[in-house]
Amino acid sequence: MSKVRLYVEQSLAEGQSVSLTREQAHYLFGVMRLGMGDDLHVFDGQTGEFRAEIAEAGKRGGVLQCVERTRDLQMPPDLWLLFAPIKKARTDFIVEKATEMGAARICPVQTEFTNAERIRRDRLQAHAVEAAEQCGGTYVPDVAELARLDRVLSDWPTERRLMFCDEALVGAREALSGASGPWAILVGPEGGFSDSERRRLRDMEAAVAVSLGPRILRADTAAVAALTLWQSVLGDW
Ligand code: SAH
Repeated sequence: MSKVRLYVEQSLAEGQSVSLTREQAHYLFGVMRLGMGDDLHVFDGQTGEFRAEIAEAGKRGGVLQCVERTRDLQMPPDLWLLFAPIKKARTDFIVEKATEMGAARICPVQTEFTNAERIRRDRLQAHAVEAAEQCGGTYVPDVAELARLDRVLSDWPTERRLMFCDEALVGAREALSGASGPWAILVGPEGGFSDSERRRLRDMEAAVAVSLGPRILRADTAAVAALTLWQSVLGDW
């Protein structure tokens, strides 16, 4: 049986004991039916993965004991995903998939045609944690607060290249090759980018416009396709 994996906020080391929150205790003992002496995998997003044993199990809490390190921390490439939030379930999907695909940071951005005014950052972060637990990751990408795209672009770090997914383009996959270093991917909202956003992006030195094929993809599909394309050309696959 594959072991349960649990993300904890406390930093881990061999021999370290870890107190469980109420939710974690409910998940381990109520949902997964683990008990005293059972073991599982824990990771903290910073020091790798450990095998841990359950030392105390209660309804509202419990204690784990880290036994041995089972995996080193594996950082994803220095790749951010910027996307315009869409409907709730599709936004959740984007965060989950970006974590699985190996994004280092997830940044919701408000574009001119973005339909969402606000996001629940904590809920999206919890989705990233769950995805990392499920996919065997040892790192959890940070989900940033929703920020306006124009401000994000005004403060853009010059050394970070920006793969701007532009459905008005054909080809251009070659634009990615050979350019290692920090990157970000930008995917627009259902309504696409406005003309002024597109002009601004095209003029940015750091930006590279990239096509994802001749069909118009939904924003959630585009996020997964863009991460796949980037990972296969420049990433850790
Ligand atoms: N403007 C479009 C829909 C935008 S699709 C319309 O309504 O007709 C949402 C986002 O996905 C786009 O802003 C773009 O970033 C990305 N996208 C979708 N299909 C794409 C493609 N074929 N190539 C590059 N980017 C694409």
